[in-house]
Amino acid sequence: MKKLIVATSNPGKLKEIRQYLTELDCKLQLKPDTLEIEETGTTFVENACLKASQVAKALGEWTIADDSGLAVDALNGAPGIYSARYGLTDKERIERLLRELGNTKQRQGQFVCAIAIARRDGSIALQSEGICRGEILTSPRGTEGFGYDPIFYVPQYKQTFAQMPPDVKYKVSHRGQAFEALLPQLSEVSTIP
Ligand code: IMP
Repeated sequence: MKKLIVATSNPGKLKEIRQYLTELDCKLQLKPDTLEIEETGTTFVENACLKASQVAKALGEWTIADDSGLAVDALNGAPGIYSARYGLTDKERIERLLRELGNTKQRQGQFVCAIAIARRDGSIALQSEGICRGEILTSPRGTEGFGYDPIFYVPQYKQTFAQMPPDVKYKVSHRGQAFEALLPQLSEVSTIP
């Protein structure tokens, strides 16, 4: 494949996805803004496959899509697949999550990332899922990253995602785990004309 479309309109995610794909010998191109994608799935994997498949079919090009979000145990997995729609801005989304969690001591949760690669006809060639467990702080810490990063604390590293140097988040994050599983297979698939 000479070209791979990245089906996201989230600049934070795009920046990270590009870094995982630097070794890949093909041109990355962003999905046009005018192309609307329906996210009607009930799981991260379903939504990643839907996004990759719809964009691949519409453009006739190989496409990669990720669907990701934060699932909090005490909120029965919310915001989960609705993470992006939990508020209008990152600040609002964080405030809502902290409000809903209140003072509870049960603050464990996990970031989940599903990635799907679709062929030009929309059929799914590869998929993978990564998880990173952590705790939700009571107030934001750190300035790196995007989204819910400032309130997601990883005990093993004694830092939030927003305090981690980007190369550390690159490895330990849900996206890092998903790409680690996917990259060897993606390198093989990328040799297909
Ligand atoms: P999606 O575009 O439907 O996959 O929405 C994912 C949403 O989950 C984003 O808008 C962020 O709010 C959140 N999210 C996903 N990955 C991360 C991450 O690595 N850090 C912080 N927030 C994330």
